[in-house]
Amino acid sequence: MSYDYDLFVIGAGSGGVRAARRSAMAGAKVAVAEEYRIGGTCVIRGCVPKKYMVYASEFGRMFEHAKGFGWTSEKPEFDFKGFMKTLHAEVDRLSGIYLRNLANTGVDVLEERAELVDDHTLRLTQSGKTVTAEKILIAVGGIPWKPSDVPGIEHTISSNEVFHLPDLPKRMVIAGGGFIAVEFAGVFAGLGVETTLVYRGDTVLNGFDWDIRTHVHEELKRKGVRVVTQAIFTELEKSESGEITVTLSNGEDIKADVVMMAVGREPATAGLGLENAGVAMDDKGAILVDEYSKTNVENIWAVGDVTNRMNLTPVAIREGQAFAETVFQDEPSFFEYDNVPTAVFSQPPVGTVGLSEEDARHQFGDVDVYKTKFRPMKDLLTGDEERVMMKLVVRGSDQVVVGCHIVGPDAPEIIQAVAIAVKMGATKQDFDRTCALHPSMAEELVTLREKYVPPELA
Ligand code: NDP
Repeated sequence: MSYDYDLFVIGAGSGGVRAARRSAMAGAKVAVAEEYRIGGTCVIRGCVPKKYMVYASEFGRMFEHAKGFGWTSEKPEFDFKGFMKTLHAEVDRLSGIYLRNLANTGVDVLEERAELVDDHTLRLTQSGKTVTAEKILIAVGGIPWKPSDVPGIEHTISSNEVFHLPDLPKRMVIAGGGFIAVEFAGVFAGLGVETTLVYRGDTVLNGFDWDIRTHVHEELKRKGVRVVTQAIFTELEKSESGEITVTLSNGEDIKADVVMMAVGREPATAGLGLENAGVAMDDKGAILVDEYSKTNVENIWAVGDVTNRMNLTPVAIREGQAFAETVFQDEPSFFEYDNVPTAVFSQPPVGTVGLSEEDARHQFGDVDVYKTKFRPMKDLLTGDEERVMMKLVVRGSDQVVVGCHIVGPDAPEIIQAVAIAVKMGATKQDFDRTCALHPSMAEELVTLREKYVPPELA
């Protein structure tokens, strides 16, 4: 039986592009189909443009901080349209690089949606063409989820549309308390938008270490975000003037110009024809795979957010790479999901790796905790009251550092380096015998001496 391609990849995001290129470099005849834009969520409407928006919003405070160092300037103005134009030019440039890199490795790029007809056949929905492939990799990612039972939900935007706002709103309401909600609440508050975050729980960033959660929650409020907890949207109404009234479960009404839902994402498997090939999914529509990212169908694999394992760009890339190594380079390999560093680009940002204190206590029982909070040196002159939080979670039995959690300027940069030590199994003593770099914030990580004793154990 001969096929048009050795490998057909559906989705040209982080995971799909890496898998397609590496497979082609190993000699496979590869095609990749993409229904939206080459680069996927991270490059087009996720990590990359989001981080530029974070940078933009931080400047407001930096102008204030500069005064503490003797600088004076006219009242700074923010040109939202101008900035968004620059941001999209950069996104276009990156998407172009992704496209060129695929073409340079000989991958056929089909810029239309592909759906499965059977386990070896795909239909391209725009051109109507049918192609066959020996192997298929599904890397279609995820899409923003919105509750369908809230009247007026169609008046809300998601993280897809937030990068295409025509103007900077005056008032914004954001639903959710996870990565996206917290990051964008910081962005819009920093840009001077009257921002309200509505979260159904008590403290944002569920699942993170408790010290991260409380610190970020307090900093959100200190930065001017109004945080409403224990509430969800029950109804939204839009007036002729475009003003949206959000009614909350606590009875409160909030008026806004833009309302954004950031209440989670779901695998983009709807309508993909997976049932035609017999690919098994879980009850959330995520494709079920083994450790080599293989589905229950012999010639079909899936990587990235569509498998809902660990929904992070670098993880999707590594899963895509492991797929190519296993299937086309004859080097079976899989990704290890422990000690993956993560950042939340809140303000200040979070950097975290390993286990939270709660999870470590649950797993090991005997755990030592070292933590500190302090004002960063720079802020002693700016007058900003922002605090840095740093924390090490150490397994009692062998003193291995099993978690490191930071909230503060440059936390993501610091945690990337700390993650090497944690992944290698460094002990608290290894941290202690590492010489401090002075003056820096990160030096606190190697000078933490006093164990934290929880009040209930004191
Ligand atoms: P998250 O899963 O992080 O957060 C979802 C939030 O929505 C939670 O606070 C959750 O509450 C709340 N929620 C869920 N269902 C409802 C509901 N029915 N009504 C009201 N609130 C609800 O999702 P995000 O959308 O923020 O991000 C999606 C994923 O994208 C992340 O998990 C992450 O993997 C990835 N991402 C990573 C980033 C990074 O690495 N910096 C940045 C952005 C996204 P509760 O806490 O109670 O469950």
